[in-house]
Amino acid sequence: MERLQLAHDAIHEQASVRRVLGAFATGVTVVTAGGDLAHGMTANSFTAVSLAPPLILVCVGRDARMHHVLDRQATFAVSILASDQTEVARYFADKRRPVGPEQFNAVSWFPGAYSGAPLIDGALAHLECELDQSHEAGEHTIYVGRLLSLWRRPGEDALMFLNGQFLRAA
Ligand SMILES: Cc1cc2nc3c(=O)[nH]c(=O)nc-3n(C[C@H](O)[C@H](O)[C@H](O)COP(=O)(O)OP(=O)(O)OC[C@H]3O[C@@H](n4cnc5c(N)ncnc54)[C@H](O)[C@@H]3O)c2cc1C
Repeated sequence: MERLQLAHDAIHEQASVRRVLGAFATGVTVVTAGGDLAHGMTANSFTAVSLAPPLILVCVGRDARMHHVLDRQATFAVSILASDQTEVARYFADKRRPVGPEQFNAVSWFPGAYSGAPLIDGALAHLECELDQSHEAGEHTIYVGRLLSLWRRPGEDALMFLNGQFLRAA
């Protein structure tokens, strides 16, 4: 069996780090903000942090437009994508999508009652959050959100991301 063993120097090679970390399977989300700065971004760095208080986190690259938006928003939302939403995931990761509210014309959505952020129709779950903390970490910022609302569709399959590829998980 081929074994990828990283020498200490390889920790500085982004391709090697990406390949190894890509072995960690994740779900796929679209993080959104509403209002004048309406924006959405595909993210798989979403993680549950705490139940009491109910906290989640998402890591956003400091070059991303979403970073600029989250630094100026008190609330945001997360839509956890269902297995048939690969195209939605690709769309909100595509730099060619329109800027501002217009970008949401390509998908079906409705505004969250607590955040005003777009919630993507057909998603497996929706979370609305208020920004609780942010921490700079390398080229990303870790945004911690405190939950304001939760919704889960029963019995649907999740979209997953593993080794750089989208997968459908039952
Ligand atoms: C499965 C998957 C998971 C992902 N997970 C994550 C994740 O967890 N975290 C993450 O950060 N990314 C993640 N990405 C990448 C991310 O979805 C894309 O890079 C996405 O395009 C970022 O969206 P954006 O509009 O916020 O930033 P960009 O698409 O990078 O921004 C669009 C353009 O606007 C420019 N720009 C940026 N800020 C401003 C500004 N303030 N004013 C004017 N122009 C600006 C940028 O230079 C860029 O040219 C993931 C992608 C995939 C496919």
